[in-house]
Amino acid sequence: MNKKLSFTTRTIHSGYVASENEGSLNPPVYMTSTYCFDNVEQGAARFAGEAQGHVYSRISNPTQAVLETRLADLEDAEACLATASGMGAITAAIWTLVRPGDTVIADKTLYGCTFSYFQHGLTRFGVNVTFVDCTDADAIARALSAETRVVYFETPVNPTMRVIDIAAISQRVHDYNPAITVMVDNTYCTPALQRPLNLGADLVVHSATKYLGGHGDLIAGAVVGKQSLIDEIRLFGLKDMTGAVIAPLTAFLILRGLKSLSLRMERHCSNAQSLAHRLQQHKAVATVYYPGLEGSPHYTLARRQMDAPGGMIAMELQGGFEAGVTFMNRLKLIKRAVSLGDAETLCQHPASMTHSTYTPEERAEHDISEGLVRLSVGLEDVDDIYADLEQALAGV
Ligand SMILES: *Cc1c(COP(=O)(O)O)cnc(C)c1O
Repeated sequence: MNKKLSFTTRTIHSGYVASENEGSLNPPVYMTSTYCFDNVEQGAARFAGEAQGHVYSRISNPTQAVLETRLADLEDAEACLATASGMGAITAAIWTLVRPGDTVIADKTLYGCTFSYFQHGLTRFGVNVTFVDCTDADAIARALSAETRVVYFETPVNPTMRVIDIAAISQRVHDYNPAITVMVDNTYCTPALQRPLNLGADLVVHSATKYLGGHGDLIAGAVVGKQSLIDEIRLFGLKDMTGAVIAPLTAFLILRGLKSLSLRMERHCSNAQSLAHRLQQHKAVATVYYPGLEGSPHYTLARRQMDAPGGMIAMELQGGFEAGVTFMNRLKLIKRAVSLGDAETLCQHPASMTHSTYTPEERAEHDISEGLVRLSVGLEDVDDIYADLEQALAGV
């Protein structure tokens, strides 16, 4: 078999050989903190990095290693580091890359804790952060300087669903300086819908808490990229700077979730596409933000860059903040919760939840209006989801 197996097949098989594990269909969960050396020489060689093999589970673990091989394969990457959370992945990677005096250029709208880490964390340690609108490649070109070390963005952007051109930005940035790391948060898409490294990015980060795990029962993350950089992040960003090590059982649960990733993403996307069309017709809904709608300014780019437009929808209700609150409180089947990518449809109201610490002016600056609600479309029957949306909208 010379031909590379298809993506779906690899979500199930890649990185694991049953015959090397007592025939166990599923990978064993190695509940161990440390590993025994045959002799001092072997221990010394592993510490020196001259021999393969595990040393201590803050660095690596065999169950984690299966997950890392699989995720690297799915992102078409050389290597992966799995971590205790998405924030663990992001911070381990950034701490490894930046020095005082460096600049990080980031999109103006980011996941709340990533924004806080950049804005309030990095700046304390002499790292400068410049926020730009990454849908404008010229704005990035203007921000680039000799101090730029990282260019960071999510696409589609949370929660407003702007789509950022990974290939165009990677090209612009690398033309300027190939040593700058272009880093993409691929949480919203997973490699089932979008593979940023193939489009020219250098490093991908994930919150595996979301679609990769897929069942709302764990917190985890991953960094994916070149072997040399992943090694550095493991031995510095993870081992010394964050200690954000993934638990072996969590790694096992993500491997279990990955087996249905293709099926789940297909359903998340088809449900979202159908709901976006229906919501667009509803008189209580002012605007639907979904890159799969032909009227979306991001439709063409999304078609080119993503295999499908994803399972996240944002919508603006007629009636602003009050309408958002009333709508949320009337939901019955749909859960009022942050997070995303679960089997259950989840709904959150950024103005009173994830972005309540912003002033209304700051929210407006980030295009997060008072009546905006965000839906993580689940795997339920789409007619049942719509019926709940409809009865909630009837009270707005
Ligand atoms: C949830 C999330 C994160 C943070 O991940 P945790 O697993 O919660 O630490 C980062 N980026 C995006 C886009 C997210 O949705």
